[in-house]
Amino acid sequence: MALSNLGTAQIQEKDRNYVFHPSTHLAKHSRGETPNRVMAGAEGVYIWDTEGRKSLDGFGGLYCVNMGYGCKEIADAISEQAHELPFSHVYASQSTKAVTLLAEAVVEYFGENMRRVYFGLSGSDANETNIKLVWYYNNILGRPAKKKIISRQRGYHGSGLITGSMTGLAFFHNHFDLPLDIVRHTTTPHWYRQAQEGETEEAFSRRCAAELEALILAEGPETVGAFIGEPVLGTGGIVPPPKGYWVEIQAVLDKYDILLIADEVVTGFGRTGEKFGSHLYGMRPDLVTIAKGLSSAYLPISGSIIGERVWSVLEQGSEKFGPLGHGWTYSGHTLCAAAALANIKVLRERNILEHVRDVGPYWLEQMKSKLEGHPMVGEVRGIGILSAVEFMRDPAKRVPFDVSLQVGVRAAAALLENGVIARAMPHADTLGFAPPLIIKKEEIDIIVDATARAVDTTFKALQGEGSL
Ligand code: PLP
Repeated sequence: MALSNLGTAQIQEKDRNYVFHPSTHLAKHSRGETPNRVMAGAEGVYIWDTEGRKSLDGFGGLYCVNMGYGCKEIADAISEQAHELPFSHVYASQSTKAVTLLAEAVVEYFGENMRRVYFGLSGSDANETNIKLVWYYNNILGRPAKKKIISRQRGYHGSGLITGSMTGLAFFHNHFDLPLDIVRHTTTPHWYRQAQEGETEEAFSRRCAAELEALILAEGPETVGAFIGEPVLGTGGIVPPPKGYWVEIQAVLDKYDILLIADEVVTGFGRTGEKFGSHLYGMRPDLVTIAKGLSSAYLPISGSIIGERVWSVLEQGSEKFGPLGHGWTYSGHTLCAAAALANIKVLRERNILEHVRDVGPYWLEQMKSKLEGHPMVGEVRGIGILSAVEFMRDPAKRVPFDVSLQVGVRAAAALLENGVIARAMPHADTLGFAPPLIIKKEEIDIIVDATARAVDTTFKALQGEGSL
């Protein structure tokens, strides 16, 4: 469907004049000094722009287009729902078929002791809901001081007020008066970067748990309400946890009666090869945040899955105080729910979990065999269809590049020249990959070869300008 006959240059001009882009240098964009691709169409794992330039989308949008582009079942479900009933709210017990069936599908997909789902529109708003529920829960239980939230340095949980505060990356705090004082940050579970000389992964995990416990004791356990973490650190660098990490952390949380929020916005719905990252690492969350893979981004929808421990207290709260005062107009939006329901159906029918378990290890093996040992590659890591390559000036001694060299950004640009989109992650010089889960082995080979060439090109350019 053509929105207009305007050419690329005219769209770009309007874009510079009217659009406020997230995470963008605003002044340079207005002056036309940033790359300003106008995307026009997509199919499978490929996306192309208005100039007809086609790229393999190695980051699946923003790790969200899990079922790939052009998924007919999801598009048809949206269209049918739009004709039948585009929107009906779900306030005050009113409901729709779509939201009811979706909630059942999500609770069953997670399994274990999950009870209800509250739907929102973004990962940020779902995390905001979860924090409000932690506060409400402790108020109902008569523990009004138990409100602080502990997250990790380099964790990512959104960019709102509380969610941006929980995010442990300075870029999302600077000049916004964040983080809020209710949030504390603990050790990043990145063994390659944080381990002490001779420390094993298991010993490092024990140290992370000990540092968390020391923080809880310093703050006072009676003031700490919840710990939030991504099963696999995402925007902070795509880092699978060190061995034993979540079991150690869970034990500390249990000891001090602190709720666990698993932020599964990236890891949920099969990205790691398990239904959820929590299942893979033995986490026992009380609240689970979902978004992205819930609808494969065909429409925006997120959710807070509420476990038994919290749910029973929320019900007690209503008995005591009446209806819960929380809701967005678009909670459980009918069209978005229909899209998510179709997405989960496709995920099950195409046996995507099996597929991820097959191609994920292949991918990591290929990445390691082509990139490990390169003079500027520090670490190649990943799990399922989620991986990263971190660059170092001196990989053996783990010495990073000077940030001003923008090595990650340059490698991503070189890779784009080779026809593949990856993301220069906002922390350190790391290329992140999270293509649609439907990716085939031949397409993985294309990404790996293109990446190896891009890394070489970047290295030679750095050598050429004397930056090494
Ligand atoms: N949580 C995690 C783990 C994320 O990766 C993201 C976004 O990338 C969010 C929360 C925020 O989601 P949104 O951008 O939809 O608000």
